[in-house]
Amino acid sequence: MEIVDPGLLEPHVRDVQDFPREGVLFKDVTPLLGDHVAFSTAVDALVTHFGRGTVDKVVGIEARGFILAAPVAYHFGAGFVPARKAGKLPGPTRSVTYDLEYGEETLQIHADGIAPGERVLIVDDVLATGGTAAATVELVKQLDGEVVGLGFLLELGFLQGSARLGDHHYVSLLTY
Ligand code: AMP
Repeated sequence: MEIVDPGLLEPHVRDVQDFPREGVLFKDVTPLLGDHVAFSTAVDALVTHFGRGTVDKVVGIEARGFILAAPVAYHFGAGFVPARKAGKLPGPTRSVTYDLEYGEETLQIHADGIAPGERVLIVDDVLATGGTAAATVELVKQLDGEVVGLGFLLELGFLQGSARLGDHHYVSLLTY
């Protein structure tokens, strides 16, 4: 489902071949973040799609997810909670380790970042294989938060990451 005219955003996503390694087509969203119309359009689209009053906390996934999640949280009047790579958060944490194409990754969230029953929206820039998003869903569930949905700037549909999100509602502003 398209929730915003892709023509407003697509011209601001830059393809970088073989970054960060050979064979990867990296979707660089920094031009979109740097364009005042595209950036605000993307943030507004996520906020209006889920609707004000529906979210208590917005979890942003390190690092580009932070950039989007913070203004989305502000517009919801919700709190912002970072999901970070292992060892970056100073307080007591919960952790989930998941497989990457090469090796594994651990994501953490502060144990007091979400109270039981709080309604949580998860935000990141790119849904690729879905491993990172699925791990973040797991972190929210560990804290007994209610995942109301996930929002992404763009989705690499051919990687079928949405299959890792179970029944959770998600939206991508652009699909490749
Ligand atoms: P995944 O766990 O495979 O869904 O990967 C998601 C995370 O990796 C996101 O936080 C993205 O920022 C990043 N990522 C993965 N693949 C790409 C890509 N082709 N272009 C840009 N970012 C990517």
